[in-house]
Amino acid sequence: MSQDRTAGDLIFETITAMGQEEQEHCIHCNEKWYSIHYRDGVCHSCQQKNLPGRTELARRSRHIRIMYGLGIAALLFLIGRAIFG
Ligand SMILES: [Zn+2]
Repeated sequence: MSQDRTAGDLIFETITAMGQEEQEHCIHCNEKWYSIHYRDGVCHSCQQKNLPGRTELARRSRHIRIMYGLGIAALLFLIGRAIFG
């Protein structure tokens, strides 16, 4: 009985280990890739196309937010000047 459980545990552990082989979706082509082919959310084939990774995209979107904020500030400044100035 205990031997059966051991065999079952072994199978379960094997399946779990297989499941733990990490797979991620590429942020560009949405293909599933194993993490060894991955870098920064980008699959191997998209890396070959020089597409940016998550870090780069986050950096860009932060930059866009700053530009957007500056744009709104400038707009408010101009509106303020038009009304009060
Ligand atoms: Zn990809």
